[in-house]
Amino acid sequence: MDIHLDLSPKMRTTYSGHRTDAALFGGVIGLTESDPDIRRAIDLAHERGVKTSVGFLESGKYPENTALLTVKCENGETVKVLGTSVGGGSIAISEVDGVKMNVNSYGVTIVEKEAFVEGEENGLIRIVCDGEAYFVKYLLVCTGSDTVIPPIPGLAEVDYWTSKEALEIKELPKTLVIIGGGVIGMEFASFFNSMGVKVHIVEMMPEILGVMDKETSGMLRTEYTKRGVSFYLDTKVVEVKPDRVVIEKGGKASAIETDKILLSVGRKANLSNVGLEQLNIELHRNGVKVDEHLLTTHPRVYACGDITGYSLLAHTAIREAEVAINHILGVEDRMNYDCVPGIVYTNPEMAGVGKTEEELIKLGLPYRVTKLPMAYSGRFVAENEQGNGLCKLIQDEEGKIIGCHMLGNPASELIVIAGIAIQRGYTLEEFQKTVFPHPTVGEIYHEVMF
Ligand SMILES: Cc1cc2nc3c(=O)[nH]c(=O)nc-3n(C[C@H](O)[C@H](O)[C@H](O)COP(=O)(O)OP(=O)(O)OC[C@H]3O[C@@H](n4cnc5c(N)ncnc54)[C@H](O)[C@@H]3O)c2cc1C
Repeated sequence: MDIHLDLSPKMRTTYSGHRTDAALFGGVIGLTESDPDIRRAIDLAHERGVKTSVGFLESGKYPENTALLTVKCENGETVKVLGTSVGGGSIAISEVDGVKMNVNSYGVTIVEKEAFVEGEENGLIRIVCDGEAYFVKYLLVCTGSDTVIPPIPGLAEVDYWTSKEALEIKELPKTLVIIGGGVIGMEFASFFNSMGVKVHIVEMMPEILGVMDKETSGMLRTEYTKRGVSFYLDTKVVEVKPDRVVIEKGGKASAIETDKILLSVGRKANLSNVGLEQLNIELHRNGVKVDEHLLTTHPRVYACGDITGYSLLAHTAIREAEVAINHILGVEDRMNYDCVPGIVYTNPEMAGVGKTEEELIKLGLPYRVTKLPMAYSGRFVAENEQGNGLCKLIQDEEGKIIGCHMLGNPASELIVIAGIAIQRGYTLEEFQKTVFPHPTVGEIYHEVMF
């Protein structure tokens, strides 16, 4: 058995741009933390005053003499690396992608090339990757989405950011204009505001956050206005220049001076160079048309994730893929978009699931709202001091819960409870029988219902 713990400076290497602080711990695959040799290694690390983190030692998933090491980085994040024993007490380490490794362990081969659907041959779909042809019975298309680049005069001549570039910056601008007050725009606004950047958000609609509940969206905007973010609603960007953004509201033009522009006006399904037209697959305005099994208009082609254009969220993509695979395997399963939570990762967080009041008014459907400030939860007050927040439940005519909208931490965690109630078709009466532990922020549901 070969245990290795190297705390020497040479291990203070950079992985994914994170410098490690030598908090390295590893063991041969198949061992557990309770193993005496592993314990010895942890104790040794502690004696030397470094943090350790326990690697996931799942046996059988990785090659022999290879350990999955968890390295604690200076910034608190952990990075997984593969350590292979090379003898003489040394371990050769390489960065690993956890997802890729997991997928590989299930016997999936990843072809890291661009794929193009060329058509059908003998009842099989022909896909070509860099000149190599693959023939498949079923096809799952998940090519994601791209940032929408609107035809704003001057944009092509300006060095603007999309979310991709904004995530790679090395320096902060002093001022930033965000074009588009959707979820991504608000999350970046929250980050840059917290870093001391003067943020302006220009939004052409009367309120931020698109289809999300307008009451909580307005409360979030008020919160960020207090923190210095400037919002320009009902306002259109009509031109951009390297140092300013020209805006127009009610026919009146003005300009916002800025160091940088972040464009976040939406995302569109990535259909280019995929070849779906070779299979005559029908599209709708925002992406590939699919049914509740994620099946396209081709009987053996499925589409999941952003390419469907329905709900551009990672957790939606995961659920859609489960449904599609189940359908291929003949397992009964259907996609239900009514209970997919949407989160805005600002501070405070905002979350919503199911119908909004605005949607129901538009549909002309009757509904009933019960709501309370989050401050009705003692735990919320204790954890958020002066924090503002709202929890709002929407019921249909029969008393069934059909929507929940929330502002206040930890909305991203709590919203799933309402999502389950909607999915299970609970009435308020049934939901009332749920016992919420005290003291928790989740008790707000109980308060709202009584
Ligand atoms: C800034 C930002 C923040 C976000 N934050 C969140 C969040 O907090 N929570 C959340 O739920 N969602 C979030 N999202 C949305 C989330 O990232 C997407 O909904 C999710 O990634 C969609 O998954 P997907 O598999 O459809 O597409 P993707 O994750 O985009 O994957 C598509 C893949 O297909 C590959 N590809 C494309 N064409 C081809 C081809 N022809 N051949 C081979 N490969 C190809 C691409 O390279 C890509 O790797 C965020 C998105 C952005 C832009």
